Amino acid sequence: MALDIWISPTPRLVPDNFRELFPSPCALYPNGFEWYKGTGIRAADHPLDGHIYFQPCDACQSEDVLVIAAQWNVSYSNGDAYWDYEVECQSCHQFSQRSYAD
Ligand SMILES: [Zn+2]
Repeated sequence: MALDIWISPTPRLVPDNFRELFPSPCALYPNGFEWYKGTGIRAADHPLDGHIYFQPCDACQSEDVLVIAAQWNVSYSNGDAYWDYEVECQSCHQFSQRSYAD
């Protein structure tokens, strides 16, 4: 299993103009993966809360973050779970991404 963490000043899982591309706070954009994208939503309100354990900002540890992108899937072949998410910190305005694979 592997967990990867990135911190960046611009989003990585969505384009820089994600607010124009995905104008609602959180909506499903299926494209083979069940991606939720949007301008941002509290982790507790996210449809994948419970599947993904969303974390505070990885740059400053603030809990004032909004989830702007997330996907969660289970492999049909072996039952392994894998997910990715990105949060925008409302305190330091850095983007934190985490990706997990069993
Ligand atoms: Zn922060």
